Amino acid sequence: MATERTFSIIKPDATRRNLTGAVTTLLEDGGLRVVASKRLQLTKEQAEGFYAVHRERPFFGELVSFMISGPVVVQVLEGENAVARNREIMGATNPANADEGTIRKIHAESIEANSVHGSDSAENAATEIAYFFKPEEIVG
Ligand code: UDP
Repeated sequence: MATERTFSIIKPDATRRNLTGAVTTLLEDGGLRVVASKRLQLTKEQAEGFYAVHRERPFFGELVSFMISGPVVVQVLEGENAVARNREIMGATNPANADEGTIRKIHAESIEANSVHGSDSAENAATEIAYFFKPEEIVG
């Protein structure tokens, strides 16, 4: 399996509780390398654009409000099979269903405030990385 990149967000519930390091350690211990990282306060327009695929879903408005409720840390992660590996390390969307040892099992507060975002395909990873990072900001 070739080295791959994926996109991650440490969400406001985690930055609020000062868990940026704890979450990043779980990603690194899981075999992923942080090759780009920055802390941002998302605008409403940025959050709506990022989650445009969910625009028709009932939780869209609340999700956007949550994502702009505090700082986030956007990251590019690199490693073997990085998209799938990151999803394993994150755990299920609803922390009640997440496996032991996953970021969401350990740290998430709810199905909405679930501490991390991770791309669900290589195609979406490329789109999401380009949404936040210029190529020269990624140093592998
Ligand atoms: N979400 C929510 N309510 C739901 C499902 C999802 O608030 O019933 C939020 C949650 O923060 C989730 C995000 O919307 O991480 C995107 O949902 P998706 O189904 O893509 O889950 P993910 O890929 O993040 O596991």
